[in-house]
Amino acid sequence: MSGGRRHAPFVRFQNLLKLDHITHAVTTRHGPAFGQVGTDQATVRAAAETAELLHMNGTAWAHQVHGNTILQAHQPGLVGQADGLVTDAGGLLIAGRSADCPIILLTGQRNDGTAAVGFAHASWRSTVEGITGILVDRLAGDMGCLPRTMTAAIAPSAGPCCYEVGEEVRDQAMLELGSKAVKYFLRRDDSWFFNLWSANLGQLLDGGVPQDQVENLGICTICAGDDFWSWRTQGPKAGRFAAIIGISQGLSCQIPPSN
Ligand SMILES: [Zn+2]
Repeated sequence: MSGGRRHAPFVRFQNLLKLDHITHAVTTRHGPAFGQVGTDQATVRAAAETAELLHMNGTAWAHQVHGNTILQAHQPGLVGQADGLVTDAGGLLIAGRSADCPIILLTGQRNDGTAAVGFAHASWRSTVEGITGILVDRLAGDMGCLPRTMTAAIAPSAGPCCYEVGEEVRDQAMLELGSKAVKYFLRRDDSWFFNLWSANLGQLLDGGVPQDQVENLGICTICAGDDFWSWRTQGPKAGRFAAIIGISQGLSCQIPPSN
């Protein structure tokens, strides 16, 4: 990581910073410390702390189970068992927790100018179950945002440099995603490495999100274990960092309509 970011509590995406109506952040090991599971007191505390630091009303999160269920959040607190959340409530943050799994942040606009946001916790299991494609469909479907209005961000995770997986993971990806999954696996030193970044980028593009509206920080949590929690590096003791997004307070109805 660059010297300027050292020990910073949050990192941010340039493309989301350009959107005045969106509040977002990715916590580091030097920021609010989320718990391993949704019911942990650490998660409750970190969610409240994050909302305060980002000047929002509260934070909603999920009990993540490596599936592909996405729920809608209406108020702060634990929403339920899911690996993604969406919301259109102003002032409410939604937080995906991670130690190596990519979190995909997404926002889009409706024809009336209002916005919706979502995240997907894209572990390898959730990725092969298509969670990021499902997130795009949720924002486009019942949340009513056109894919061409969407901006997406891929948070730090185990990168293609380090994310070694077994043959069974590749087999499962080929089964669920079809032959296009071939290009997401790299062969090195007789091992497979799963490129979760390109697999989830593929789902965003297949859903119609413009490529130039997607940003990937390209930070590997295994290489950058001093700054981000990593299950592969720290094992069962690893804490969780969070990727967080919300519609800024009082701004949800003031966005100019897109044409
Ligand atoms: Zn790495």
